[in-house]
Amino acid sequence: MEFTLEEMRGHLDALEARIAEACKIAGRSRESVKLVWVSKFHPAEAVENAISLGATDFGENRVQEAELKFSAPRMAKDGSRVRCHVIGPVQSNKLKKAAIVADCIHSIASIEAVEKLERVCAALPGENGAGKILDILFQVNAGEEETKSGLDVHEAEAFLNGLAEKAGVATEDGKSENFPHLRFRGLMTIGKNTGVAEDSRECFAFLRTLQQKFLAKGGAFAHFDQLSMGMTGDLEVAIEEGSTMIRVGTALFGERDYSKQL
Ligand SMILES: *Cc1c(COP(=O)(O)O)cnc(C)c1O
Repeated sequence: MEFTLEEMRGHLDALEARIAEACKIAGRSRESVKLVWVSKFHPAEAVENAISLGATDFGENRVQEAELKFSAPRMAKDGSRVRCHVIGPVQSNKLKKAAIVADCIHSIASIEAVEKLERVCAALPGENGAGKILDILFQVNAGEEETKSGLDVHEAEAFLNGLAEKAGVATEDGKSENFPHLRFRGLMTIGKNTGVAEDSRECFAFLRTLQQKFLAKGGAFAHFDQLSMGMTGDLEVAIEEGSTMIRVGTALFGERDYSKQL
C-alpha cells in the first residue's frame, strides 16, 4: 500500500529532523547533504507526491524501472530539472540505456564499464549536440560482504590509480583526454546493514579517506567531491563521516513490496 501525500509529508518531516540533528552533531550545513529519494518498487504516483514535497533527486536500482518513471523530463518545485540516479549494478548491455536516463550512475565498478560509457555518451546528443556529460561514482564493497557488488575494498585504490593513468592528460577542470564525456564524481558504498548503524562507521570512514586522497590528486579527479553513503538505517553515521548524498527509500516511501513488478 502506498502512502498518501500527507503521510509522506510526515515521513519527510521526521527524516529532515534526523538529517538536521546529524548535521548539527557533525558541524555541517544541511545544504552539504543531498537527499536522493529511492523510489524503486514504488509507482509513478509516489514520485509525483515526492516532487510536490520538493524532491529533486531520485534513485532507482533497475534501468528499466528508471526509464519507466524518469524518461520524460519533468520539473522540480525549485525550477530545476528532476535528476535520476541509477544506484543498482548495471549489466554491460544496459549501460547505454542507463546513460540515457540517468544524470548520475553510482554503481560503476569496472574499467570496461567506464570505457563503454564514454563511447555511449560521446554518441548521445547531450545539451549542445556534442555528447552527453555523465556523472559517475565508483561503488566500493566496503561492507565486505560476498553478495554485494562493487570494487573489492583491497583493490579500489589500485583501480582508481589505473583509471587516472588511462584518463590521459586532464585539464584543471577535470576534462580528461580519454574520457571527456565522463565526470568522475566520487565513491559510493552500501553500509553493513546489520541493523546497527555504528557497524557501518568504519567502512564509511574508509570511503571518505579514499575519496579525499583522489580529490587531492586533481586532474581527471578534479570533480571527485561526492560520497554516496547512508540509507534509512545508517544515514546519521554516514553524515557524520562526510556523506554528501544519502540514498533514502523506506523512511520516505515506506516498505517496498518486492512481489510487485512495475
Ligand atoms: C534500496 C536502496 C537504498 C534505499 O534503502 P532504504 O533502506 O530503503 O533507505 C539505497 N541504496 C541502494 C543502493 C539501494 O539499493
